Amino acid sequence: MRRLRKAKIVATLGPASSDPAMIRQLFEAGADVFRLNFSHGTHEDHKKRFDAIRALEKELGRPIAILQDLQGPKIRVGTLKNGPVKLERGATVRFRLSAEPGDAREVPLPHPEVIANVMPGHTLMIDDGKLQLTATECGTDYVDAKVVVGGMLSDRKGVNLPNTDLPISPLTEKDRRDLAFGLELGVDWIALSFVQRPADVIEAQGLINGRAGIMAKIEKPAALDRIEDIVALVDSVMVARGDLGVEIPPEDVPGRQKELIRLCRQAGKPVIVATQMLESMIKSPSPTRAEASDVATAIYDSADAVMLSAESASGDWPVEAVAMMDRIISHTENHKLYRSIIEALQPTPENTTPHAVAAAAADVANAIGATAIVTFTHSGTTAMRAARKRPLVPIMSMSPDPAIARRLALLWGTHNMVTPEISTYDEMVDSARQVTLAEGFAKEGDRIVVIAGIPFGRPGSTNNLRVVRL
Ligand code: PGA
Ligand code: MN
Repeated sequence: MRRLRKAKIVATLGPASSDPAMIRQLFEAGADVFRLNFSHGTHEDHKKRFDAIRALEKELGRPIAILQDLQGPKIRVGTLKNGPVKLERGATVRFRLSAEPGDAREVPLPHPEVIANVMPGHTLMIDDGKLQLTATECGTDYVDAKVVVGGMLSDRKGVNLPNTDLPISPLTEKDRRDLAFGLELGVDWIALSFVQRPADVIEAQGLINGRAGIMAKIEKPAALDRIEDIVALVDSVMVARGDLGVEIPPEDVPGRQKELIRLCRQAGKPVIVATQMLESMIKSPSPTRAEASDVATAIYDSADAVMLSAESASGDWPVEAVAMMDRIISHTENHKLYRSIIEALQPTPENTTPHAVAAAAADVANAIGATAIVTFTHSGTTAMRAARKRPLVPIMSMSPDPAIARRLALLWGTHNMVTPEISTYDEMVDSARQVTLAEGFAKEGDRIVVIAGIPFGRPGSTNNLRVVRL
């Protein structure tokens, strides 16, 4: 089966979307990548979903990507003695390094690294930013903070610290256990939450060791400060607008989204725009106009993928949400202004043979009206370089490695396939010919543009372009 749009859909699985029949419906409605959110659910829950996806993949013969999203160091207040309390604007609250239940004056904050690093003047945002405080005094086992925006506080609410650079790994003990479990299952992508610095990525690389692609979720201002270095290290990026929009002012998020997408496109790495894209569809079968516009904007920005969170994981309309995203993407990509907008965002060309060949493939395909670009890719880089140009025609990426084929499900404009290993030029041309015909990307008489690195099997050496008439 083939999809007719370029941008991809990531659907988060959860209680509303766990049984195999539902996962199948989501795939058929348009989900290309499934996200397992390790902030929720047990290993057993995730394993069931994982197995259902792999069974579906086997049945349909289409590589499907599975993204394991690690919770990361989410900071939370402790519990309260007598239930929720009101924090009054102007009051001073003491956050104590303690596990003892608290009250409106003393709130437990059992995170030593937070107490040690918050400085007077730093902001504490609680419950997705609904409550806001400014630190006034910091002791060895407490932080006093003045309430700037008050409201109700209840047990275990999340805390965001936008100004505090925390010397903690983005991998907690729980994350390490979850990661080992995910790698054992064989997930394709691993998303690191609350990445702050390049060293965080390097630490994860050491543990993952090439067994899955690494995605950095950009949701901390500290990550924005080092973003070029982080993008250079990872394999993909998520614009995690939920936490990012708490840590930086919401009005800064749209511009950051554009910057991040541009940077990733320049680097040739896939980028997902995530969170609240069709939020109202958690409860309603149709989105707001603003939400439809938000999805379309990510597509005009030329993001590789857009993501559903609670809409597909725990909402009332999971299939409708995926179908709606599919329709918005297709309509946007067919709109008369779409091409001129994404062409205007062309990355600056890189003066290397692999990049030049991949870029030329897009130009040649356009010029001669070829129906597809076919890439042979061992590591996935040839496909990523071709996608970076955002060509008019589909990119068919053929890889002998199922893990690479699955990973590429996230990539813009790419139809990913597992094909037998090839060793000669003639085999490559033959294989391209057969696959394009069989998958319905061309008919007899059409032309396709084939790119590859020769000799075969040496990753990242794209150096050959051939036009093939079928
Ligand atoms: P989350 O990440 O849903 O795991 O918090 C996405 C985001 O913060 O936007
Ligand atoms: Mn987040």
